[in-house]
Amino acid sequence: MSEFFDPYNADRPLMLKCSCGRDHTIADHHAEVAADGAAIELRRRSETAEFEAYSNEFIEATLVKALFPHDEVRRRFLRAVGKGTAMAAIASVLPVASLQAMAQEKGALEKTNLKIGFIPITCATPLIMAAPLGFYQKQGLNVEVTKTAGWALVRDKMINKEYDASHFLSPMPLAISLGLGSNAVPMNVATIQNINGQAITLALKHKNNRDPKNWKGFKFGIPFDYSIHNFLLRYYLAENGLNPDTDVQLRVIPPAEMVANLRAGNIDGFLGPDPFNQRAVFDEVGFIHLLTRDLWNGHPCCAFGTSTEFIQKNPNTFAALYRAVLTSAAMARDPKNRELIAKVIAPSQYLNQPEAVLTQVLTGRFADGLGSIQNVPERADFDPMPWQSMAVWMLTQMQRWGYIKGDVDYKAVAEKVFLITDARKYMKDLGQPFTAGSGYRKHTIMGKEFDAAKPAEYLNSFAIKKTA
Ligand SMILES: [Zn+2]
Ligand SMILES: [Zn+2]
Repeated sequence: MSEFFDPYNADRPLMLKCSCGRDHTIADHHAEVAADGAAIELRRRSETAEFEAYSNEFIEATLVKALFPHDEVRRRFLRAVGKGTAMAAIASVLPVASLQAMAQEKGALEKTNLKIGFIPITCATPLIMAAPLGFYQKQGLNVEVTKTAGWALVRDKMINKEYDASHFLSPMPLAISLGLGSNAVPMNVATIQNINGQAITLALKHKNNRDPKNWKGFKFGIPFDYSIHNFLLRYYLAENGLNPDTDVQLRVIPPAEMVANLRAGNIDGFLGPDPFNQRAVFDEVGFIHLLTRDLWNGHPCCAFGTSTEFIQKNPNTFAALYRAVLTSAAMARDPKNRELIAKVIAPSQYLNQPEAVLTQVLTGRFADGLGSIQNVPERADFDPMPWQSMAVWMLTQMQRWGYIKGDVDYKAVAEKVFLITDARKYMKDLGQPFTAGSGYRKHTIMGKEFDAAKPAEYLNSFAIKKTA
């Protein structure tokens, strides 16, 4: 059937373009009109002095936090050297801190036409909305955000330089840099895109089978091997006594195909990105068993990144991109913008989802498919800090499940891939004692503390793991 005439499409007038002159369905017409209106309002909000101040503070705070994750160290440093010296020192630190200065100075952009890949999931919200809200344009960039079918394709298009930068699953730049599953190409995580925002969704027939100890033989969908989804699902199953390699089957399924596979009975459930958990509820084929926020509140999910080569060749362009994405994150973090953002990312060129599904994900007021409306405001959030301790955790799980074999210097890899600059050198230059590691903090996963300084102890503490 030709795409120009589809006489069996009930949503579309036959042999007529939409009355607005564009060639799309009535449903698409409504979604686009709503998106245009929402984008105008969000753009207006982004141009207020209030947002400008908030956004600058947000970016500055993110950068300073990157340098001084331990607030006490930051305060000691400021008190000792004074604000002016501290600011100059921070501005001279490469690459993160100087990015802001570079972006503000708007140094000559090495490249202005850019192609950025994304997977149509809510994790990519800041990266996507920066386009219709004009944040890239404001930085002098002409960015084409390109919808991509799956994560392996994202990896390949980054390696062959078809994309300049991309939405990644945050473990992917680690895996690609290490050459796991592909050639080794140095990649970087510039910012985390989103925290939380994933869920375990099960088929409706398992409504009364909520105890994972009874899930032997289940088939689960995951988006990619090198995903927080895979690591969190494995962690959860193992904490409940199941070996994820032998007691269940894990299948890599592109996020957009997860609901269809659940409906067809090919899988019992998935640990997947939104909006597909909510979409399964909306389509009445599944229910939300738990939110990943219940496993690790604040866990990283997706990232914004690019190759190390791109950053080295195009530092000013990268700085401008970085600023656009952080501005977007500042806007996405604010709960009062979430309903409008749902409208902006709903149309077919972005997520292609009913607005009602996206609103439930982004506001955290949602039907769980079990007859309740839940209210979890932190269901999805957009904290850009790329803690290196998060990277170390991912590496421990890659080792635990046999993706990494042999000895790996977790810290060295984390610090090479996750871009937080070490304040150590500058504090030393200024005669300041430096005790704490800069990009590290402790995390709590399913009630157990993870200390990135003791990864081997942590790994040894698990009863279930892949034995080589
Ligand atoms: Zn129209
Ligand atoms: Zn994600």
